[in-house]
Amino acid sequence: MRIIIFSLLCSVLLIISCSPVNTAVSKTPIIEEVRTSIPKQTSTPKNIILLIGDGMGLGQISAGTFANGNTSALENFKTIGLHKPYASDKLITDSAAAATAFACGIKTYNGAIAVDENKNAVPTILEEAESYGKATGLIATSSIVHATPACFIAHNEYRKNYEEIATDFLKTEIDFFIGGGLKHFYRRDSDDRNLIKELQDKGYVISDYFQDDLEDLSPQSDQNFGYLTADEEPIPTAQGRDYLPTAASMSYPFLKEHSDKGFFLMIEGSQIDWGGHANNTNYIITEFLEFDKVIQSAFDFAKADGNTLVIVTADHETGGFAIQKESKMDSIVGAFTSDYHTGTMIPVFAYGPGEELFQGIYENIEIYSKMRQAFSWTGSFSNSDQ
Ligand code: MG
Ligand code: ZN
Repeated sequence: MRIIIFSLLCSVLLIISCSPVNTAVSKTPIIEEVRTSIPKQTSTPKNIILLIGDGMGLGQISAGTFANGNTSALENFKTIGLHKPYASDKLITDSAAAATAFACGIKTYNGAIAVDENKNAVPTILEEAESYGKATGLIATSSIVHATPACFIAHNEYRKNYEEIATDFLKTEIDFFIGGGLKHFYRRDSDDRNLIKELQDKGYVISDYFQDDLEDLSPQSDQNFGYLTADEEPIPTAQGRDYLPTAASMSYPFLKEHSDKGFFLMIEGSQIDWGGHANNTNYIITEFLEFDKVIQSAFDFAKADGNTLVIVTADHETGGFAIQKESKMDSIVGAFTSDYHTGTMIPVFAYGPGEELFQGIYENIEIYSKMRQAFSWTGSFSNSDQ
């Protein structure tokens, strides 16, 4: 009898839930609710610091947090969202398509550097920031011509055309950059150009790991500054690379003083991804912990400054990394499902004026449109506007 009543009840519920009248009735309040829940921006930042942990999914963040005494700088952030990282041609994105989404607001094919599916250049947020008179900066723990930083400054059909990407540094007015890849600027296979000399002729102060320690330099904000940290790719931080926190802390006051119109800065923790590709838990954790110092310094700068929006996210997850049951808080045992990227949604953390925009679940290209919205930029922008 009970079973009969139960199944009767289920049938009634099923009928109610399937009835078109009911659907129509229930739809209206849901739409209203969505409309009224769209966050309103409270104020406009002068500066944006976009922090990209390459390959930094929730597993990587969790492992790094536990390995760090159960805390991280991300716990300062109260506004959290998720983005969907897929590319236009593949559900699993690479870093080039993903950074093009952040920099240009378009889904494109894997390997594309700030070009669309037809290989046409699409203007980047860094180029647009320059057109508004803002100071701009790029910092990475890969080479500076590697996919993630490249997508903010260069346009190329293929991410591995490093020498062509390097020449694009002459086409912008980027004010501050630090990363590896010196050889692509001055010891080139495709031509005899010395891009270091060309940048110096343009008024840049340029140095490199061979000539100076970064800590010994104090770049003056009335000149543009570049520093190359390695001939090709920098070594892992576990093997002694330590410039990222110095570079970040140097960049905030430099860019702030460089223009009274504010700045756009992208800093990448490039090698969290490489730890994932290598299926190496310790590599992931050590790279995350270094990047975490930069998250903290960016947060501290933004808190003191009051006009700076900090966004922390990743381009995609790498390795299908998961924390295994043998793990303890201070000894994480990781396992991997892949030596490539995975398709899982990616956390976004935001702090500062405009942070409300980053709540919810959205496409990766909306990181771009939300940054523009935060800056109160309206209308379209093309490279020819410069
Ligand atoms: Mg990268
Ligand atoms: Zn990768």
